[in-house]
Amino acid sequence: FMSSSSFIRSSYIEYFTKIHGHRHVKSSSVVPLSDPTVPFINAGMNQFKGVFLGLVDAPSSRVVNSQKCIRVGGKHNDLDLVGTDGHHHTFFEMLGNWSFGDYYKKEACQMAWDLLLGPFRLKPEDLVVTYFGGDPIIGILEDRECRDIWKSIGVPASRLQARGTADNFWEMGVTGPCGACTELHYISPDGSLTEIWNIVFIDSNREADGSVKRLRKQHIDTGMGLERMAKLLQGVPSNYDTDLFRPLIDAIHRNSKGAPPYSGGYSSQDALQQAYRRLADHARMVSVCLADGVFPAANLNLKQVMRRSFKICTDVFQNPQLLTHLYTEVANSLGDTYPELVSKQKEANLIIEHEREAYAKLRAELGKKWKGLLQRYPEVESLGDVEIAGFALGYTEFKETMSKLKSTTIPGDLVFKLYDTHGFQEDVIERIAKLNNLCIDKQGFQKLLTQHKSKHKAAFKEQSSKKGLTFDTTIDRLIKSGVKCTDDKHKYDCLL
Ligand code: ATP
Ligand code: MG
Ligand code: MG
Ligand code: MG
Repeated sequence: FMSSSSFIRSSYIEYFTKIHGHRHVKSSSVVPLSDPTVPFINAGMNQFKGVFLGLVDAPSSRVVNSQKCIRVGGKHNDLDLVGTDGHHHTFFEMLGNWSFGDYYKKEACQMAWDLLLGPFRLKPEDLVVTYFGGDPIIGILEDRECRDIWKSIGVPASRLQARGTADNFWEMGVTGPCGACTELHYISPDGSLTEIWNIVFIDSNREADGSVKRLRKQHIDTGMGLERMAKLLQGVPSNYDTDLFRPLIDAIHRNSKGAPPYSGGYSSQDALQQAYRRLADHARMVSVCLADGVFPAANLNLKQVMRRSFKICTDVFQNPQLLTHLYTEVANSLGDTYPELVSKQKEANLIIEHEREAYAKLRAELGKKWKGLLQRYPEVESLGDVEIAGFALGYTEFKETMSKLKSTTIPGDLVFKLYDTHGFQEDVIERIAKLNNLCIDKQGFQKLLTQHKSKHKAAFKEQSSKKGLTFDTTIDRLIKSGVKCTDDKHKYDCLL
């Protein structure tokens, strides 16, 4: 139908190619090519980082594309939000247009406004525009130029809002290209705002020392969430009711053992509704990653999302094989746009099957240990489920250590040791401490954790470059080089 997601995608691209002379370029892989500053491609601009920094030539001074993006880990991490609202996904498609030293603020805002009100037929009274209100810390003033541009385009002052750095100063990662931005939001009937399009005025770079340094040229970088636009134009309650998600949700229901159907909308926060949304979301992320050659043994973010998916498939929908069916659905819905989903289906299914078996084995192993633990220490029963048992494997040692403790606070270094040697997560340690009438030194633990993470990162980088494993690893290359996950404690990661 007219506002199908593929129609929206192609309209966007045609609008910028045919009317505004942009060149259509392909989406890059979700794997950052030799860029260790982000865990995944998180925005359309990532593949142009070198262009912004003046290191490589632009493919054209005006470019448009639809980019596969993943926001798990790193500065932009939406994993925990997924399922709790209707519009944050781990994987989503970002439609974007760029000007590399060509047009700037006025033209970019006008082009966006004309597309929304013209071909996309949104009503101006349903939109709110935010712009950068300035930040004394990074020494950048309020973007009055942007505010005045929107006024001249016809946005009334009542729907024009200044916002701070957290919302309206866009940054790719801890370092990298950045700049003030202006965001277009849609006002829902209940008054809440959903951001649909961000226009960034890239004119700076965040340096490793934290300072913001001006670039020689000014650029435009925009991003519109396809799923959010589809929700609006299809007039449905949430992204999960669009043609991008509905087939997945239906497939989950079809392949489940007796689960009640998805009820639609996103107001229902019960566990089943969230499980539908999470699994549909995660299936897209997992499929796209596998098709792009990300290997779960080498990528703990992917491994974690796969484990979370298997858990939902097993516990909620009673079908551990469900993820394999969902891969097919994702390939059906996105394969025309991203053909690697189709061409890599066989390899992807092998990996899903391998991980599923490993997961089932782990669950069985944990189940047995849990029973033994309960007999010895009845108090652990209140920890609830088998998942926690994974972390309770070290409970005996925990009890011994605690019996030597002189105060009722577990010091940071001990908390860290429990975390590091047994894979206990902070909240689990806290719960176990409470069972024993103790509390934990959170601050001390966090400090050690930060130190540990930066050490780990540096070591991984060194190791992977030694093995010739840069960040553009492909399934084939990884399989050939025989990479295995040697880090056992991460086995338990997503069982939390
Ligand atoms: P939000 O404030 O809603 O978290 P954002 O400001 O983090 O969005 P940007 O980094 O500006 O998002 O990305 C550009 C566009 O991509 C957004 O306007 C939105 O339409 C879309 N988008 C961002 N994050 C997600 C996500 N997790 N899932 C789906 N779409 C997203
Ligand atoms: Mg966000
Ligand atoms: Mg935002
Ligand atoms: Mg934004």
